[in-house]
Amino acid sequence: MKEVYTLADLRDWPAATAGEAPPLRLSVFGDPVAHSRSPQMHNPALAAAGLEARYCRLHIRPEELAEALRLLPKAGFIGTNVTIPHKSAVMELVDEVEPYAREAGAVNTVVVEGDRLRGFNTDGPGLVRAIRSEFSVDIRDLRVMVLGAGGGAGRAIAVQCARERCERLVLVNRTFEKAAALATELAPHFHGPRLLGPTARLEALPMEPGPLASALENTDLVINATSCGMKRGDPPVLPASLLQPHLMVYDTIYTAHRTPLLADAEAVGARAANGLSMLLHQGA
Ligand code: NAP
Repeated sequence: MKEVYTLADLRDWPAATAGEAPPLRLSVFGDPVAHSRSPQMHNPALAAAGLEARYCRLHIRPEELAEALRLLPKAGFIGTNVTIPHKSAVMELVDEVEPYAREAGAVNTVVVEGDRLRGFNTDGPGLVRAIRSEFSVDIRDLRVMVLGAGGGAGRAIAVQCARERCERLVLVNRTFEKAAALATELAPHFHGPRLLGPTARLEALPMEPGPLASALENTDLVINATSCGMKRGDPPVLPASLLQPHLMVYDTIYTAHRTPLLADAEAVGARAANGLSMLLHQGA
């Protein structure tokens, strides 16, 4: 199996993959894509499950995306993942987008059904399972604060929390307008007969210590979906003084074992986990 295949390979897949066994029937499309670790995650899982298929990388440029998707059925694919920069463009190129992916504004998984292509997003369901496995709790029972709700991952997480009808959802973003716009979009999920406490069930806040301090009093789970903490030397996304022992802190960043946020959370006695479990469950 090659490290990376291209559109030219996909146009004549039997020739490009002659002799490959099990056959290559799953992939990730990206540009760039060589860095993707998805094959290392999925191929051992396929082998362990005894499935006659393997997973490969396809370097597909934006202008090649439509043709590449339409070649999948004839090439015998079961489906493909799509990563940067295709997650939003793919929505207009498949035959059907499931409702959660439509609301999240991104598709990361395309399933081939006959000649039809169906788009899904697995980030939200992956996050729900990750929270259950890390903290033995369900999102729907929690008061959740999403940091970075205006980014791609943050939006997908916030939409999932709203669809789960969690107890309370606080959307925080450095560029406040994005959080405010998302709160307006998600408001319909929070209409209904749940008991109202002293705080709003849905609100948007700027990323400023004052408003965050009081909101954290009424928060169970803080999810960092910003990219702050990915690079060595990044400051903590929240001042350490805001963290409290009652919190569960989940950092979606998985490249660092312990981001500054997680280190600060553990130092005050809060429970903390990094994004590896979300990566695993969205992939599964
Ligand atoms: P993105 O769309 O570029 O969004 C980046 C977000 O981070 C925006 O909300 C941005 O705020 C915010 N931000 C960036 N620098 C900041 C700073 N210094 N202070 C405060 N906020 C800052 O990126 P993405 O694709 O959503 O990815 C975000 C993170 O999620 C990454 O760390 C990625 O590793 C992680 N992720 C993890 C998984 C998993 O499976 N574990 C899956 C997907 C993503 P503005 O709107 O103000 O720019």
